Amino acid sequence: VNGCVFCEIAGGRVEASIVYEDDDTLAFMDLKPVNPGHVLVVPREHVPSVRDLDEELGGRVFKVAMRLESAIRNSGVRCEGTNMFVADGEAAFQDVFHFHLHVFPRFQGDRFTIDADWKEQSRAELDRVASDIRSAYEQLWR
Ligand SMILES: [Zn+2]
Repeated sequence: VNGCVFCEIAGGRVEASIVYEDDDTLAFMDLKPVNPGHVLVVPREHVPSVRDLDEELGGRVFKVAMRLESAIRNSGVRCEGTNMFVADGEAAFQDVFHFHLHVFPRFQGDRFTIDADWKEQSRAELDRVASDIRSAYEQLWR
């Protein structure tokens, strides 16, 4: 897609540090890494959001991410843990609207933070929300 930097990378028209590629997927270093070793895995096909992603292709993207997670741990970069992360939508801080799965190493004292109000919810509230999601799931994929 015109103007999409990940399509440009997939087409070889924009420079990137490639770590893995096959017919359907591509993995390369994030230009602005959380920590050294931060990799992005993308489908070659332009897919804006997770909702547009074919499930089989999504499975292949995740398989590549799983294998890269092990590779990162064995690569010599500082890695005491890893995060896999998808940002879907502007509210979730998606910056490039071509689906991508982040895989990045973590270590004690790094600067990555996730902050939220982690307050425990009541069982009644959890059950209520679970019921809403179950209904939506059944309507979508029954
Ligand atoms: Zn694209």
